[in-house]
Amino acid sequence: MLSIHRVSTVTAIVLWAKDWGEKDRLLALLTKERGAVRVIAQGAQRPANRLAPVAQTGILATFWLAKARDLDRVTDYHILLLPRRLRRSILALTAFSLVAESLELAMPEGIRETGVFEEAVWFLEQLEAGISLPEWLVTALVRFLKHLGVAPQLTCCVSCKSAIEQETVAFSPSAGGILCPQCAQRGPTDREMYAAALLRNLHDLWQQPDLMKTLRLPLSFRQQALHLLRYYWRYHLEVDAKAWRVWQQVARSPFFLTTQT
Ligand SMILES: [Zn+2]
Repeated sequence: MLSIHRVSTVTAIVLWAKDWGEKDRLLALLTKERGAVRVIAQGAQRPANRLAPVAQTGILATFWLAKARDLDRVTDYHILLLPRRLRRSILALTAFSLVAESLELAMPEGIRETGVFEEAVWFLEQLEAGISLPEWLVTALVRFLKHLGVAPQLTCCVSCKSAIEQETVAFSPSAGGILCPQCAQRGPTDREMYAAALLRNLHDLWQQPDLMKTLRLPLSFRQQALHLLRYYWRYHLEVDAKAWRVWQQVARSPFFLTTQT
């Protein structure tokens, strides 16, 4: 009887996977049932190992886990979504990894967050469907801020609530959104100036993530939006996701500037 209770089933996205010791793989899972958890896939470094197919970044699967003293062990799995685009495109993999790392940093281990899991599955499906990566990344980073309870105020001054008429607007992570000129003058020193049109785009994507399928941000907006979001996530996490550096390198290539891949 005891052994029955020692096996649990979770539905999860593999946020990242890396070699662990000489033979195993360590997986960071975003689960529907238990939030973020780390598990071991024993022997999965060997390509012929039966767990090797599931020990890959971006896989969505049902996992059977056996309780162990330190980290649970994967005993079996059923793959629900095999993200081929992450295998083909280094840029897609980097964008996914950036969101995955931010989520893992933001989520307390073992705390169930069904809304975050369901939205993460939706974003993974959209990525697989071939959506434009900059819009995908901007929208995912905006939406997950909302789930974490730190959505920025982007429609009126966060301090005095007055409407913003100017074409460039101050944004402050510590204040939690945009500031009118008067409040900006008295306000926090971490403010930066952004085009009001860009902030409206961010607000629209936050409210209606489906817009990312059709909205095309101008190149300068993509860069500014990602700068703002990096700055804002870093303020809340108190650390910069490591994947940002990789993203900056791959996104700097001429390929990225001219195509949507
Ligand atoms: Zn104000």
